[in-house]
This record gives sequence, structure tokens and C-alpha cells, in this order.
Amino acid sequence: MFDNLSQGLEKAWDMVRRDGELTADNIKAPMREIRRALLEADVSLPIVRQFVASVEAAALGVKVVKGVRPDQQLVKVVNDELIKLMGGQQEDLVDPKDGPQVILMAGLQGVGKTTACGKLALALQKRNKKVLMVATDIYRPAAIEQLVTLGQRVNVPVFEMGTDAKPADIAAAGLAKAKAEGYDAIIVDTAGRLQIDERMMRELGDVRAAVQPTDTLLVVDAMTGQEAAGLVKAFNDAAELTGAILTKMDGDSRGGAALSVKAVSGKPIKFVGTGEKLEALEPFYPDRTASRILG
Ligand code: GDP
Repeated sequence: MFDNLSQGLEKAWDMVRRDGELTADNIKAPMREIRRALLEADVSLPIVRQFVASVEAAALGVKVVKGVRPDQQLVKVVNDELIKLMGGQQEDLVDPKDGPQVILMAGLQGVGKTTACGKLALALQKRNKKVLMVATDIYRPAAIEQLVTLGQRVNVPVFEMGTDAKPADIAAAGLAKAKAEGYDAIIVDTAGRLQIDERMMRELGDVRAAVQPTDTLLVVDAMTGQEAAGLVKAFNDAAELTGAILTKMDGDSRGGAALSVKAVSGKPIKFVGTGEKLEALEPFYPDRTASRILG
């Protein structure tokens, strides 16, 4: 991941390495290279335009420091702008003072949503929380079974009511159980669909209204690229997201989604999935990710 982007940016640094300083003139060619590298990484055009404009403005405003080469200055500016683009700070889950943490998980089918429920359950357990998972995918009995199996692997119970109840009612009953039995956190898995449809969004909105989550996380496959923009927007409109989990970061995706989610939705990526194992979940750090991109 990010390999092509890193290589593309390398070309930009090469272009100014031998110059004395960054000027309006000599910055044009590297900026074109940066633009090309981002587009090839599948970042959407409006985001690329905005990013390139910010980098250019910042690069031309940089005070020349003796001993620092122009390519190093440009790397520093791009680093800072990449961190900003991805949201600046690492953002953790919301941890309420009263009552259980309620995490609602949304996403299209196959993105790794159910796996992410198991991963989060394990991560919260490691924070000494008593966790309950709730299965509301009434359309695929296999999805309920999958969550139960994951629950067994991490030793977290799964609340389910089969496939006849409404998802919002199941979620509400799960939350009531969690409150009555002193759970610290519940993770509500929802139905994934092959594509966004109105019914799915309405249902998600109903589940959200029923449990008033402390976090509503959209699970996005890192391979999604710039399509992540539309996806995040549609889910955000329906269910007011607090953030996203980007899965399959271990794959060979080009990195567009990682760079786009915050910029298009204002919502941070809170975690990334880095493998199929349940331990493979990490907080998302914009600064470390920028360092990785810059090599
Ligand atoms: P759901 O339909 O969104 O619930 O997707 P699943 O949780 O069933 O995951 C779909 C597939 O993606 C499974 O084979 C998972 O093992 C795999 N998967 C999930 N997260 C990751 C990840 O971070 N990295 C990799 N390589 N595979 C993942």
C-alpha cells in the first residue's frame, strides 16, 4: 500500500533537489508530479486540487533555512499537509461518562464489517471492558452465525433474536440487556448490502435512533479508492457517522480511501484493519501514515 504514491512523490523531490530555493517557477513541475501521484493513488479530483493548492501556498511561504535543501522543505510541507488532510490527530472512540459505550457498525457487504466487530470487541476487552455484541442482520442467518462464532473466539456473548424481529427492536433489546447486566460496551452489527439502497439506509437510521450510539462507524474497504467519497457521504446523511474503520490496509490498494475519508466527510478514520486475524486492528495515526507515504 502507498508504494506507487511514494514513488510518484519521489519524482517531485528530485525535480527541486538541485535548486537553491522553492520559487513560483520551479515549484510548478513538482506540483504537477504530486497531483499525478495523488490521482494515480485514486484520490478524487476536488480533494487533489485543494491539496495541491495548499501545498503550493505553504511551500512558497516557507522561510529558507540555511542548510535545508528545497526538496527537504517540500517533503516537510507535503508531510504537514498530508497529516492535515487525514485529520491531524488520532481520534479514539467516544467513551461516555454514564452508561455503556454503544458502537454501531455500518457498511456494505464483504468490506469486513463483521470481522471488524470481532476485532473491536477484542480491543475493548483489552481495555478491561465487558463487551456484548448484537446481531441485527435479519436477512442473512449466516451473518448471525458468523458473529456468534467470532464472539466465541474472543469470548464475548452475542445477543440475537433470529431473523423475525426488526433490527431496531433487536438493537434496543440488546442495549436494555447490556444496561441491566452491567456491560461497559455493546457493538451492534448491521446488515451489509451489495449497494446503497434507500431501505438499507432507512433501517440503519432506525437502528441508530433506537440505541443512540456513542459511535457510528462506517467500515470501508481500503480498495474502495475515491468511491469512498460517495459512500461515506451517503452513510453520513443516513446515520450521522462519528468515524470510519478502513479495512484491508494490508492489501495492495492504492491508498485513495485513506486520504479521502476525512476530507469528504469531516469524519476521521478511527481504526484500520491490517489482516484477517482478530488482533489485526490498529488505531489510525495520520502522522504515522504520512511518514509511511513519504517513505
Ligand atoms: P462483511 O460482509 O462486511 O461482514 O465482511 P466479513 O467480515 O465477513 O469479511 C469479508 C472478508 O474480508 C473475510 O474473508 C475477512 O477475513 C476479510 N477481512 C476482513 N478484514 C480484513 C483485513 O483487514 N485484511 C484482510 N486481508 N482481510 C480482511
